Amino acid sequence: MHLRTITGTIAAIAEPYTSTVTTLHVYEAVGFILGLAFGSFLNVCISRIPKGESVIHPRSRCPRCEAAIRWYDNIPLLSWLLLRGRCRDCHAGISWRYPAVEFTTGLWLLHTAKLFWDATHLDATMSAAAIPSPSASQIAIYLLAVLGLAILGFLLIGLIVMDWQTFTLPDAFTLTGIAIALFLVCTQAIFLGPTEDQVLLTRHSLHLTSPGGVTDHGNVFLTGPESLIFGRIAAICGTALILLIIRWLYKALRHREGMGLGDVKLLAMIAAFLGFWPAILALFIGVLIAGLYGIVLLAQRRAGAASKLAFGSFLSIGGLISALFGNTIIDRYIALIR
Ligand SMILES: [Zn+2]
Repeated sequence: MHLRTITGTIAAIAEPYTSTVTTLHVYEAVGFILGLAFGSFLNVCISRIPKGESVIHPRSRCPRCEAAIRWYDNIPLLSWLLLRGRCRDCHAGISWRYPAVEFTTGLWLLHTAKLFWDATHLDATMSAAAIPSPSASQIAIYLLAVLGLAILGFLLIGLIVMDWQTFTLPDAFTLTGIAIALFLVCTQAIFLGPTEDQVLLTRHSLHLTSPGGVTDHGNVFLTGPESLIFGRIAAICGTALILLIIRWLYKALRHREGMGLGDVKLLAMIAAFLGFWPAILALFIGVLIAGLYGIVLLAQRRAGAASKLAFGSFLSIGGLISALFGNTIIDRYIALIR
């Protein structure tokens, strides 16, 4: 048999299989593995940042016997499973928090990898839906939004665990997050034309500016890029102000601290990445879940009216849900009230 006929036969046999394993699966697999690695680093941040320790030096040690953790015992997810959640040296239990954070970060980056893949296939989906193909600068804005989503997920997953375990929401995550988000918004604005103030890729779950925003049409005072940047700064200040007022009212009525400043910075960070309305939605979902959890605790008599609740954890969960489904929820809600 000729070599060409052999390769032809192989290709013919492999054809139905290669078409099911598409580039999308490759993107998703790479995203998941990258997510596991970032999740592993996030675990180091969670253990050390609330204590004010460096996240780079020294290398990881077992908290009980202080033996340095070998590189082959430090492989995300796998090592924990192979060691059955115990230290190799002293057999002390290793919290399931470690594989859980790695797995969740893995899933988050898998999701953003799918959105990233979408960007390279926008042409096909747009023309199929009879929407004009996006320009190169629109795709650049879309990719920056996807990058922001990936970073936001990393920060929020870390904040959920840190607030739950230590009642702290470190500035290293919240304030740094606001700075990163503002930088990304300014970079997006570079690609925006003077008369465009938002780029909506409506076939996809991701809008590029806050839906329901007030700068939709007929803004004669600001050009598009200006209204994008100032709009986001207004969202940061606005959401922070709302929580500060709630915090002040609570203090005036109950004569004790109900909410930390960390929660204020956290909501401002969500607004910096997602915009005003998605941040308000995150606050609403956070209050709802925290309320339900509080009712369960009270019913089980495991908490009194004065018990402390890690509200930042619930707010972060609200942020993750809003980042995933916020645009769809807000769009449906606007359609409902119109
Ligand atoms: Zn040990």
